[in-house]
Amino acid sequence: MPSPPLPTDELLQLDRQHAWHPYASAVEPPAVYPVVAARGVRLQLADGRELIDGTSSWWSALHGYNHPVLNAAAHDQLARMSNVMFGGLTHPAAVKLCTLLARLTPAALNRVFLCDSGSVAVEIAIKMALQFWQAQGRADKCRLLTVRSGYHGDTFMAMSVCDPVDGMHQLFGGILPRHYFADKPSPRFGETCGEHDLASLRQVLAAHDDIAAVIIEPIVQGAGGMHFYSADYLRGVRELCDRHGVLLICDEIATGFGRTGKLFACEHAGISPDILCVGKAITGGYLSLAATLCTDAVAAGICGGGAGALMHGPTFMGNPLACAIACASIELLISQPWQRAVAAIENRLRIELEPAREFQGVADVRVLGAIGVIEMKNPIAVASVQDRFVQRGLWVRPFGNLIYTMPPFIIDDADLTTLARGMVAVAAELGA
Ligand SMILES: *Cc1c(COP(=O)(O)O)cnc(C)c1O
Repeated sequence: MPSPPLPTDELLQLDRQHAWHPYASAVEPPAVYPVVAARGVRLQLADGRELIDGTSSWWSALHGYNHPVLNAAAHDQLARMSNVMFGGLTHPAAVKLCTLLARLTPAALNRVFLCDSGSVAVEIAIKMALQFWQAQGRADKCRLLTVRSGYHGDTFMAMSVCDPVDGMHQLFGGILPRHYFADKPSPRFGETCGEHDLASLRQVLAAHDDIAAVIIEPIVQGAGGMHFYSADYLRGVRELCDRHGVLLICDEIATGFGRTGKLFACEHAGISPDILCVGKAITGGYLSLAATLCTDAVAAGICGGGAGALMHGPTFMGNPLACAIACASIELLISQPWQRAVAAIENRLRIELEPAREFQGVADVRVLGAIGVIEMKNPIAVASVQDRFVQRGLWVRPFGNLIYTMPPFIIDDADLTTLARGMVAVAAELGA
């Protein structure tokens, strides 16, 4: 039998003593709220309060929490096996997931490499690009090109392509590999993209012949600032990569599985990358899982090289439990009119967040798909603003200058309205 739950005081005390939270001090730990359960769009705190979740637990819980279909998939797989190694063995959950991903992602991405987390999927994407060029006798093509304000994860190679100012380059500058950075995409979503908008990227590509790949988040730059940029720009990036013989890696870890209104954000531009990363929402927020896909041409290129293989293989690769839940989550998503749900969220957010645009302290309000952002002019004190939201029965966790929401797609209109009005009210408190 599991031990009985700890009293909340004791839980919080032990948390402060032993549990290290993300981007947090262990010596002066930030306030945390104990959650005892979650169902639908609601988180239940230990003191009985319920919060409407505006974050989908870092953008992953598409179908809300404790979903009967995903629970059933987990129980069913548990009864067979929760894990088995993927070296020399295979199983239905992984094969089904790889087939689903190959079918649903943009054309030509047929080869699927499963792994544990988004950052690792980015490591693998970069390794694919480097091995590809090595196998072509172009080991000199070993640098990456990306745009500023990007975010690709917290492992070392992933950090090296995060924004050089807001990322952790100061801290780790001495050991991070050096890559090339172009200006962040300036034309906004819905705008066209002129020649000059791609000038920075074009210049770097023309000046260097050691570039293996361009890595970019399609349409939405997420943790780097929630910028929504022009689909035309992304088409331009694809053309430039083709012209200069450089691979294109799209990082759809944040945007994949419907968040921007298309199943994958690349579809806004009608382009297909050579290598694609997915993660976050892939299991509907149940377990950590990610995947890197590539074209047959990239796969053949890599495997024709000296190594004859992609040199990667995580211990828990293709974990059956995670794969079974991912299959259930993806099938649940595509079996329903999810586009309508996302469009309804987009419309409601547009209407409800709009009044914040008039506030002194607000720099911008923007909405795309199931993403709503109020950008403040000044940095936000996370702990105190988070607490204002909790007082209102909402779970919204700001970062930088941004108050944003990425709610579960199942949120109903009443809860979404409450959530969006709460965001506007807090923005007003910070600077009306
Ligand atoms: C979250 C994120 C990652 C990193 O994923 P983890 O699972 O946190 O390692 C990489 N790229 C993008 C675009 C992300 O949003």
